[in-house]
Parts: sequence; structure tokens; C-alpha cells
Amino acid sequence: MVKRPKGIVFGSEVNGHPQESCDVCIVGSGPGGAVVADELTKAGRSVLMIEEGPLPSPAESMTPKEVVAKYYREMGLFTTHWPVQFPVFTGRVFGGTTVINSGTILPTPDRVMDGWASDIGVEFDRRVWRQIESEHDEVFSVKPCPTERMSTSNRLFAEGLERLGLPGGGPLPRCERDCEGSGRCVFICPKDAKQSVNLSLLPKSLERGMRVYVETRAVWLNKSKRKVKGVICRTAAGGELVVHAKTVVLAMGTLETALFMLRNGMGWRYPAVGRNLSIHPAAKVFAEMPEPVHSWKGVPQAYRYEQSEYPDVHFEGVFLPAPMGAIGIPFFGGELADWMRIYDRLAGFGFFISDSNHGRVRRIPGVGPFVTYRVTFRDLDNFCFALKLIARAYFAVGARRVLLPLLDRKNLYDSIESLDNNFPGKSLHPGQMYAMAFHPLGTCRFSATRDQGVVDVSGRCHRHDNLYIADGSAIAGPLHANPQMTIMTFARLVGRGLA
Ligand SMILES: Cc1cc2nc3c(=O)[nH]c(=O)nc-3n(C[C@H](O)[C@H](O)[C@H](O)COP(=O)(O)OP(=O)(O)OC[C@H]3O[C@@H](n4cnc5c(N)ncnc54)[C@H](O)[C@@H]3O)c2cc1C
Ligand code: SF4
Repeated sequence: MVKRPKGIVFGSEVNGHPQESCDVCIVGSGPGGAVVADELTKAGRSVLMIEEGPLPSPAESMTPKEVVAKYYREMGLFTTHWPVQFPVFTGRVFGGTTVINSGTILPTPDRVMDGWASDIGVEFDRRVWRQIESEHDEVFSVKPCPTERMSTSNRLFAEGLERLGLPGGGPLPRCERDCEGSGRCVFICPKDAKQSVNLSLLPKSLERGMRVYVETRAVWLNKSKRKVKGVICRTAAGGELVVHAKTVVLAMGTLETALFMLRNGMGWRYPAVGRNLSIHPAAKVFAEMPEPVHSWKGVPQAYRYEQSEYPDVHFEGVFLPAPMGAIGIPFFGGELADWMRIYDRLAGFGFFISDSNHGRVRRIPGVGPFVTYRVTFRDLDNFCFALKLIARAYFAVGARRVLLPLLDRKNLYDSIESLDNNFPGKSLHPGQMYAMAFHPLGTCRFSATRDQGVVDVSGRCHRHDNLYIADGSAIAGPLHANPQMTIMTFARLVGRGLA
């Protein structure tokens, strides 16, 4: 049974045509929306938040499959469409994707901020940016994952790198309090250890008087030429909620904010809406070890590694519990069953790529989203490098076989020699990549000018006086880091500007 915190209104109980008024209406309760709400409620502004998803139930009452079905958007089935089909995972729940993310939290790299300045004319005060990041370290209790809490997969990979003479790896910083390494971060933390914003920030804003409609979807912007007057929403019970607001902040996530802008006819005024999508394509390599390693125990995303020759490849641990583990295995039928039978002996490590190409989110009237995303040769080259490095590291610690995320017969190797001799390399085609994505960014990105982006450095839409965007869509990717810290730092600047 979900508790009924003060300030929460359940859309499943709201019929008819209710009306609400507020200073600021924030759409979306992920890290972007939550941080803006934090700043505004501290300043005493009246805030109404709209969230399409439900309140999360306690983790112990749900299996991982139920979490995916209930809190992952489109039950985890949302994908890019053409020319490659990669699943793109996001959350649809109070707290947004932080409820189902891995809890890694990394600062914005300097090279990314340099790129923003040179490519799209966006310069932030670096001292203020770093100051906000260290405030976030405090608020979200950020600390490196201790070695003893890492899953065996992470430790084996680190040992493999050491044997290969490759220094430079280290523990990932995570936002957690009293994490016990139960390994369920992406299916809701059962200990409430991971500091997702529904636990760390949103309750404080509710205490300060914020009101939230959950199970309520924002559908239309009520707008005139340069101003918005509010938002029209559909509740889960079929009601129509009309919100009158002096300011509207969109924080629906990279895909949904772009789709909302397009649905509301903003594509004409903002040609950049939906463009510049980066997704950080990601994949993982499995290794069959001689003994059981029970890789689902311990923190799955605990260790990282980067190599200066391949600065766009970011290695990070990942492993799913058995009921969901099949998603990472590129086989069907009997072969898949054979791999699941030895799941306790599998180690696995992942990576994501800072992509060199931009995709696009479109909306086909009457059909819905259509996402184009192309893989470049550079990205493919980075992908191959990552697969081979993880395979080598696991062979160095005694792996019997490695299974690469490739959709053809050349995905299974039993030695470094066979990998060197038979790896498809240059003949590989993007359609053979068994990849997925967790970090969509950039579809309403910030920019100095109207033609290159949608919002300015304060988050305000270039052609509207009181419409703001404060989520992953505003962040120009790729980011060379997991995005939640960057999204929250930008959102805090937006919130401070509005407070
Ligand atoms: C499995 C997984 C693991 C990840 N791990 C990490 C990690 O370890 N570290 C990291 O930095 N990042 C990680 N990420 C990514 C990170 O969580 C996201 O980049 C971040 O949460 C995005 O924040 P946001 O505010 O842009 O949007 P979201 O967090 O997606 O929040 C948007 C919210 O808006 C709501 N919404 C959308 N449309 C509407 C509408 N029309 N009306 C009302 N509400 C709406 C959604 O339901 C959602 O709750 C991970 C992502 C996934 C999927
Ligand atoms: S490893 Fe377990 S206890 Fe730690 S944050 Fe993840 S789910 Fe929570």
C-alpha cells in the first residue's frame, strides 16, 4: 500500500474539470524538476508539480519484472527506430528516472564545458558550477563505492586490468546512505539507500508546501504568442486539470519534453526541438568463469575505467539479477537457456560511448514518436575497442569463454588468440550491435542563439518569456559522464534564476 504523503493528489481519484493556480508549474518530478522545486520552495514560491507516473511502492512488495512493467516508460520497450533499433530506458514514476537508475554520480567534465563554450556559445561560471556540484555531493551523500561492497564482476574486471598492466581504474562515486550492496538499484533500492530524488529532495519541497499531482499527464500548453498561461493535464481517472501558472518549467525528460513541445506546435518556432539527440549507446560483455561468482550480489555499477587513447569510451560495471539477465544475452531459445543455466558463473562488465552523431526525435501525428539515430564509424570503432578490452581483462583472470554483445555468430570466444584471429572488426555493421541506451540528452539543448538550440543559459525558451526547460533535454550531449549531476546542476541554476 502506497503511503499518502501530505501535498500529493492522486490523479486516479480526480474526475471532472478541477482548476489550480500557482506561481510556478513544474512538469516532471525527475532530478531536473526536483531541483528546481527545491530552489523555488526554499524561496517561498507556490509550486505545483505534475507527474505522469505513480508514487513508487516499497521495493520488497515488487519483483524486478513488476518494477519494469510499472515504472519504466513503455515497460522498457521504447526504442530508437531507424536505422538502428536500440532500447532507450527512462522512468515514469514520482522521482523520475532516479528511482530506477544506478546511483552513479559524476561531475561535468571540463572538456564538455569547454565544448559547450566553443560549439554553441554557452559559458557557465565554472566556479559557481563546481560549488553547486559540491553542494550536491553533500545533499546526496556522494562517496566512492568501497571495494568490499563491489560485485565480483567489478573486482574481477579490476584484477584483469591490473594483470594486463592497465592502470587508471577506480571506484565510482555513488549517491547512497548505508548501501548494503543488494544489487537492485535499477529496480528500486529495497533499503532506501540510493538517494533518488523522491527520497532526498522532493519530501523537503512537500514539507515546504509544494503540491503534486501524480498519475497526471500534462498534454497541452495554454499559450499566447510569447507567453504561456499554464498547462492542461489529463488525470488517470479521465479528469481534465487546468493549471494557471505565472511560469511553466518543463522537466519531463529528454524524449518527452521534446515530444510535448512538438505536440504543442513549437517545432515551427524552435527548429532545434527534437534534434541533437545523443544517447550514449551502451552494452556489456559476459564472461563464463570456472567457479560460481554470483555477480548479482554487491553493487553492480561500482568500478570505472577510461583509456586516454579512446577518450569516448567509458567503462562501468553493470549486472542484472537472473530474472532480468536474459535481456543482455544476444541469443534465443535453447542457446539462451544454456547461458541462463550457468548464470551464477557469469561475470559481466559494461561501457557507454560518448557518441559522435546526433539523432532526432520526431512526432508522427496519429502514430507517436519516431526516433532516428545513426551510428558512425568512429562509434563503431569505439564499440569494438570496448568489447575487446573487457574480453581481455576477463581472459586475464581465467574466463573460459566471453560472450560479446553482437547479433551474429562471431560473438563467442574461448581465448585471446581466437578473439585476435576471428573478431569481425572492420566488417562489423551497426545493425549487429546489441546495444541499448540510458542517457538520452540534448533535444531542447541550451545555446547562445535561437538557431542552434531551444533555451538560453537560464533555461528560458528563446522565444517565450515565461517557459523554461530544466531536464536532460536542455543538456547538450554527449557528456563523457553519467548525466544526473549535470542535469541537477543546470536545474539548480534555472531554479535560482526563477526564485
Ligand atoms: C536504468 C538506468 C540507469 C541509470 N543510471 C544512471 C546513473 O547511475 N547515474 C546517472 O547520472 N544517470 C543514470 N541514468 C540516467 C539518469 O537517471 C537520467 O539521465 C535522469 O534521471 C534524467 O533526468 P530528467 O529530469 O531529465 O528526466 P527523468 O528523470 O526521466 O524525469 C522525467 C519525469 O517526467 C515525467 N513526465 C514525462 N512526461 C510527462 C508528462 N507529459 N506529464 C507529466 N509528467 C511527465 C516522467 O514520468 C518522469 O518521471 C540511468 C538511467 C536508467 C534508465
Ligand atoms: S546496491 Fe542495493 S542497497 Fe545499495 S543502493 Fe543499490 S539497491 Fe540500494
